[in-house]
Amino acid sequence: MATEIAPNTTDAGETERETVSRNFIEQEIDKDLKEGRYASVVTRFPPEPNGYLHIGHAKSILLNYGIAKEYHGQFNLRFDDTNPTKEKGEFVEAIKRDVEWLGAKFNGPYFASDYFDRMYEAALKLIRDGKAYVSDLSADEIRQYRGTLTEPGKDDPGRSHSVEENLALFEQMKNGAFEDGSKVLRARIDMQAANINMRDPILYRIAHLHHQNTGDKWCIYPMYDFAHPLEDAFEGITHSLCTLEFEDHRPLYNWVVENVGFAHPPRQIEFAKLYLTNVVTGKRYIKKLVENGTVDGWDDPRLVTIAALRRRGYTPESIQKFIHLGGISKANSSTDYAMLEYCIRDDLKTRVPRMYAVLDPIRLIIDNYPEGQDETFTVPNNPENPGLGSRTVTFSRELYIERNDFMENPPRKYFRLFPGNEVRLMQAYFVKCVGYQKDEQGNVTEVHCVYDPESRGGNSPDGRKVKGTIHWVNAADAVPSQIRLYENLIDEEKGVYNEDGSMNINPDSLKVVQGYIEPALAEAKPYDSFQFVRNGFFCADAKLSQPGKPVFGRIVSLKSSFKLPKA
Ligand code: ATP
Ligand code: MG
Repeated sequence: MATEIAPNTTDAGETERETVSRNFIEQEIDKDLKEGRYASVVTRFPPEPNGYLHIGHAKSILLNYGIAKEYHGQFNLRFDDTNPTKEKGEFVEAIKRDVEWLGAKFNGPYFASDYFDRMYEAALKLIRDGKAYVSDLSADEIRQYRGTLTEPGKDDPGRSHSVEENLALFEQMKNGAFEDGSKVLRARIDMQAANINMRDPILYRIAHLHHQNTGDKWCIYPMYDFAHPLEDAFEGITHSLCTLEFEDHRPLYNWVVENVGFAHPPRQIEFAKLYLTNVVTGKRYIKKLVENGTVDGWDDPRLVTIAALRRRGYTPESIQKFIHLGGISKANSSTDYAMLEYCIRDDLKTRVPRMYAVLDPIRLIIDNYPEGQDETFTVPNNPENPGLGSRTVTFSRELYIERNDFMENPPRKYFRLFPGNEVRLMQAYFVKCVGYQKDEQGNVTEVHCVYDPESRGGNSPDGRKVKGTIHWVNAADAVPSQIRLYENLIDEEKGVYNEDGSMNINPDSLKVVQGYIEPALAEAKPYDSFQFVRNGFFCADAKLSQPGKPVFGRIVSLKSSFKLPKA
């Protein structure tokens, strides 16, 4: 999308919008407006309500919405519900919610099925003009007659029907006189065309199916390549932005809008789909994972549906940034998931509080801290954002720390706790390890320390340095909490898909641990996000949390290998 720089005020006092690196779609639109092809810009997002939207759809939504906004035009949400078998009301609601959540303000929603009467009229016009005919061929015969990339097709005998015969047959099709598959309406274009899509494509098929919007009114349904350009044209769409696989369909798109006869027909422009390396993005694959129970629904936080990303703790801003960084191009490529992680880290870094939570707890006892005593520390919620204020944490003789912050026999360069070593307890005191206990299995059960009362606040009393700083929670008031750690759903060594369409699932993509959180975190509401210091960003799971008993899932760890591309 265009990178805007500050508006310039010219001497004449007019405000000029200056933009740099305009993408190829914006360049085409600029040209169309300059040449007077359209007076304003209208775009749309046309999902089929047969599943939830995913990160790839976000690219299409934000591109179409962004263009409409940039040109002070209009953006429509239209459900492509021409296919009565697969569509569900649940998906319509989910899609609307996701588009809104992404921040795209739309007109509508509109439904393609609301245009069935007008589509039927358009088909009648083509028949009257001698540009469409009813065919008696079976699906197999149509395939045989179509030819191949190297062989031209053969004329369908239906081509010789008169206009009157076609009108009568099409009406009978509509009235239910024929069985499914026994007849179709075809465009009369060119069975020798080099582009197979132009070899008399099917416009209408017979399907005695109940439609969730139109009920049993229709037993003929328009094909996508006929319906889609008409839907665009009926809505006055000017630029119909779609993905590259529709490039070969563009001549047919143009044929439909020209021959049905629109004064300002829409124009199709293709761009590359968004793919993420080693991530399942295709709707039908995500559907498979939902249906076979690999995940706990369309919003399982390990998926990249919009609903899943929201539940995981992604923000609309982070997704907008990710799509913006990826840019718009005409060449397919695959984007690294690390870029998406970079965007959410960057968004949350200064936006959310930094709190204490211990994921794999082990007890730490401060032998020289008086039993029964406690004290409080005031801790800034986010040192990079004073606006987030501060909170009070309590401290006493018994704490929990991370199990891996202690080692009996540390390797070189291990600066955390081990017998004889001193570390800083974040914001609290210096403590020195004086011993530890183990159970029969040899697992460390508690670590013993002594503290230096002079180091209150974590400050060195005499200039002596410690190399390790670890976090902690007070055992007296820490709240036990389920914490979920996610890895890629896919086994990255093997790649996503196998030849038979199956996927390589990573059996360890979900790890559930019982940790301890500081009391303030127990108040978290669904979708509240935090940094758990040293452990990453976490979000209260909207499906699993109970009031006062949040379940946290890790959005992303703190470390990144991703580098922002140079501008
Ligand atoms: P999928 O390929 O995942 O099954 P779809 O193309 O069948 O998705 P639709 O509901 O038909 O899903 O798509 C609505 C719009 O979203 C279409 O214009 C389509 O081109 C666009 N779209 C789908 N996937 C992507 C993607 N990965 N990147 C960009 N746009 C996409
Ligand atoms: Mg589709």
